[in-house]
Amino acid sequence: MINKTLLLRLISSIGITVAASTPSWASNAVNIYSARHYQSDDKLYAAFTKRTGIQVNRIEAADEALLERLRSEGTKSPADVLILVDAARLSRAATEGLFAPSDSESLRERIPENMRSSKEAQGYAWWGFSKRARVIVYNKQRFSGSAPQSYASLADARFKSAVCTRSAAHPYMLSLIASQIEHRGESATLSWAKAVVGNFARPPRGGDTDQIRATASGECGVALSNTYYLARLMRSSKPEDQEVIRKVGFVWPDQDDKGTHVNVTGGGMVKHAKNREAAMRFLEFMASDEAQQVLADGNNEWPTVPSVKINNPALDAMGSFKADKLPIATIGARQSAAVKLVDQAGWR
Ligand code: FE
Repeated sequence: MINKTLLLRLISSIGITVAASTPSWASNAVNIYSARHYQSDDKLYAAFTKRTGIQVNRIEAADEALLERLRSEGTKSPADVLILVDAARLSRAATEGLFAPSDSESLRERIPENMRSSKEAQGYAWWGFSKRARVIVYNKQRFSGSAPQSYASLADARFKSAVCTRSAAHPYMLSLIASQIEHRGESATLSWAKAVVGNFARPPRGGDTDQIRATASGECGVALSNTYYLARLMRSSKPEDQEVIRKVGFVWPDQDDKGTHVNVTGGGMVKHAKNREAAMRFLEFMASDEAQQVLADGNNEWPTVPSVKINNPALDAMGSFKADKLPIATIGARQSAAVKLVDQAGWR
């Protein structure tokens, strides 16, 4: 039995926020560590409790803080389910052995094979629950009609002093670079990465939204962003956000090639989970129509379950695209190669 007071003290000491209601770490409950932190997720957890009678306790924190916490808690961890963002982090957690295998017929049926960890490697360590794409954003005034149509073309001489990205040490960049390594091989990807660095308008800084804003202002000509950041600005009622959206266009990269790089948020059962049955029911619930809709729409993403439809005006406006079919697990497996390559290219 966990000493709740001690647990809460530990949590606050490392800067993790606990959901508003005090968790009672009861037995008819599932304890979730989640790197997602959207209002819509409250609705999701309430729906699960209503359907199953299983109470949801959760700790929300940044991915790295959650992983650190799981490592230090070891077998004593109260966590049953771990939810993380991006293949880079999911596969790192899997490689470290933080997940337990979580095989389920309904999960296998609903989550496409390329959106989950491979059974061979870790016995289905994690399952992808929502997906996002990595697109190229461009300044309309500077590059209308001449925007880069592929990730490869970010290395073209015509984009000299125009390219902006967040730090390539970030999982979103590492996963994209890992996919390039998988498609084009290490040496071609290294040459490309060096040329992209040579095209920088400024050293990497800030997140994806900062790249979009700097592209609108003209400081950057072209940049990379996850789709939901773009959709968030599109749905914003703030005049300054609307102004940003008016000034930028975006491209689905690699439509004549492998397709646009796609990534997931996903989760799995924690290695030392105590409430295993509840954890499995929760994971299966995450793949249900209801949960898929809330999960995806809450952060302007797409469901991983192909039959689930959402009604999101920003995503509708962005239209459809050809997605890279590369298994997310393969992208995860290439992380260490991507880290090494980023370092060699000086893409920091
Ligand atoms: Fe993000």
